[in-house]
Amino acid sequence: MPAQAVAKKPHEELRAYYQRLLRELGPQNWWPARTRLEVILGAILVQNTAWRNAALAIAELRRAGLLNLSRLLAAPAAEIEARIRSAGFYRQKARAIRAFLAWLDGACQASIRVMFRRHPSVLRQELLGLWGFGPETVDAILLYAGRMPRFVADAYTRRILARHGFISDRAGYASAQRFLHQHLPADAGLFNEFHALLVEVGKRRCHRRAPRCDGCPLEPFLPSRRNAAAEAEPLPAGARAAGNFERRVESGS
Ligand code: SF4
Repeated sequence: MPAQAVAKKPHEELRAYYQRLLRELGPQNWWPARTRLEVILGAILVQNTAWRNAALAIAELRRAGLLNLSRLLAAPAAEIEARIRSAGFYRQKARAIRAFLAWLDGACQASIRVMFRRHPSVLRQELLGLWGFGPETVDAILLYAGRMPRFVADAYTRRILARHGFISDRAGYASAQRFLHQHLPADAGLFNEFHALLVEVGKRRCHRRAPRCDGCPLEPFLPSRRNAAAEAEPLPAGARAAGNFERRVESGS
């Protein structure tokens, strides 16, 4: 009997999704960055744009010597804006970067090491209070720069979970994340790879308007496919015996 025809508990099913994605797509090696500062800047720069645009901005900051914390702290707003134009919304993103730098300077002695000594929940709340920082940006920083187990429940993740019947298609960030935290072990390595794999499937296959399910690594897990597999499955021996018994009762034998 195919494993997908059996109704599994969410944690078993999520594990099966993860194993399948890892087998089909391989490790994604996220986050593509050399330092924790780069991860933090990348998490801000990738807001509302494709990664390639954020990567261009990172490369430009590198060329200007601004991937160095003390130089970045000293850089005027106009300089940061000019370097990150390729990421779009560059004024807002420069403002978010400067809000982060001011907080880091004032609350963490301008040290990313000191920043990550905070308890994850405390740090999360503080970062969420910064201008331009939403939950997705903050959790990406906690997970990929701080190796803290916060699942990034981004739009791709929510779409896939909803299409596979785990959450409602109206579920927001917080409830999708709650579902994942409830059914997965709090393991930063697992969250890192699983999120990266879901993003890859989202980009390649699970498009907003027209998902390309045929041939998708997660196709066998779709509720419709599982139901079809279950319906095509021959009755187990016990059930066949029960059916024979019912027919005997009907015929009076
Ligand atoms: S494309 Fe289809 S099978 Fe693949 S993740 Fe999306 S809904 Fe699931």
